[in-house]
Amino acid sequence: MGKSKAERILDRQRQQPLDEHELDLFLGAAPRVAAPLESSDLLPAKPALDLSTEPTLLPGMVLLRGFLQPTEQQALVDDARGLGLGPGGFYKPVYASGAKCRLHQMCLGRHWNVVTEQYEAQRSNHDGAQSPPLPAHWTAIAQRSLHAAAAIDPRVMGDCRAVTPDICVVNYYKKAGRNGMHIDKDESQEAMESGSPVISFSIGSAAEFAFIDHYPAPREAVPVVRLESGDVLVFGGPSRSVVHALTRVFPNTQPEWLHMRAGRLNLTFREFQPSKFKIMHADDDDQ
Ligand code: MN
Repeated sequence: MGKSKAERILDRQRQQPLDEHELDLFLGAAPRVAAPLESSDLLPAKPALDLSTEPTLLPGMVLLRGFLQPTEQQALVDDARGLGLGPGGFYKPVYASGAKCRLHQMCLGRHWNVVTEQYEAQRSNHDGAQSPPLPAHWTAIAQRSLHAAAAIDPRVMGDCRAVTPDICVVNYYKKAGRNGMHIDKDESQEAMESGSPVISFSIGSAAEFAFIDHYPAPREAVPVVRLESGDVLVFGGPSRSVVHALTRVFPNTQPEWLHMRAGRLNLTFREFQPSKFKIMHADDDDQ
């Protein structure tokens, strides 16, 4: 009997030796070694932000510029390194087509399986590891940023009165990393229908984020926004199903003070199940 495509991918992954390169993804303690410049690197290190050219965001989208303090950013990197090198840590996902994602990923709370496009407790598309829990202090920072965003545009909350993220997808992009046009649509039906927001932290190299309220036609122009280290982007309510992509990472744009291997670390928080639909049990009180 023939094996399914997913089974063949799993077999291939099991045969691959551990990529040692992955182990030093987050060499926080080591000083950054500058790589030789390439022509594509000859961009200004940090162009002055011209607010007049900032694109208009969609209703229910808020960008909090520089919301995360440098010490907070470094602590998140250090936490991510610790979690990322442990069980259920960073790995390089492979799509059902066999194509490798151009990023490293780690899922906290629940594992998002790129092959089945569903959440699961153990990552059955890689090594069966249990998803590590979401650190409570990470959730707290996500909630604090959501409050700030809701003060600017209350529509980010959708129909939710309170949001307690129970999933964090952590993506690490090297300078050639990217992520194609997609909708974050695999949380529960209740989360999607209530417009429960996605809260996205950018740390490290700046990146270009494209967004539009429908899947664009082949040559259709799509607005982009540049996300810098410390920025928090929130999309919820009417923009919960915004079509978006990470179109490029800008090399040599990482803050000098950040101890992280060059690249972009992106933390996206969501609720799988909105709090108001969660069934409360007496023994859940300590969560
Ligand atoms: Mn996404």
